[in-house]
Amino acid sequence: SYASRKNLSEQVDQTYIMVKPDGVQRGLVGEIISRFERKGFKLTGLKLFQCPKELAEEHYKDLKGKPFYPTLIDYITSGPVVCMVWEGVGVVASARKLIGSTNPLQAEPGTIRGDLAVQTGRNVVHGSDSPENGRREAALWFKEGELCEWTPAQAPWLME
Ligand code: UDP
Ligand code: MG
Repeated sequence: SYASRKNLSEQVDQTYIMVKPDGVQRGLVGEIISRFERKGFKLTGLKLFQCPKELAEEHYKDLKGKPFYPTLIDYITSGPVVCMVWEGVGVVASARKLIGSTNPLQAEPGTIRGDLAVQTGRNVVHGSDSPENGRREAALWFKEGELCEWTPAQAPWLME
């Protein structure tokens, strides 16, 4: 049951979701947050933030050396981003589905990128690609005490 599962934190994943600077500039923050909220995941961290270059480099360190890496760092640091942590069973893979393919022209209609973007270099949103990276990125972008543990009133209406 939900009651017997809710304290087993190892079953609850964390994902780091970020509205990139183009999403903020284009006024898509509410739209993007809404999609995760309506799905039923739990928001545990949220802030508007101007990302320093060092943090962008750490976040995307696996892509260092790719031809698009320098412009990616410029893009992510070009204006404020909205940083979020969402939690739930299976949240990492589900959020990737809600976001859609990296190239928005290949992203399915109904996904965030499929509906709201056209170019890989302006694909409006980030989502962690594994539960391990979800925890790593949540800890990278949020300080201790910035995340909020709470029980949504709707919890028993989302999970039996
Ligand atoms: N990116 C890019 N050109 C590429 C591939 C990636 O500009 O050819 C950017 C794009 O913003 C993408 C980010 O680098 O979202 C991270 O790439 P990744 O392959 O991890 O895609 P994602 O996990 O964001 O779908
Ligand atoms: Mg990625």
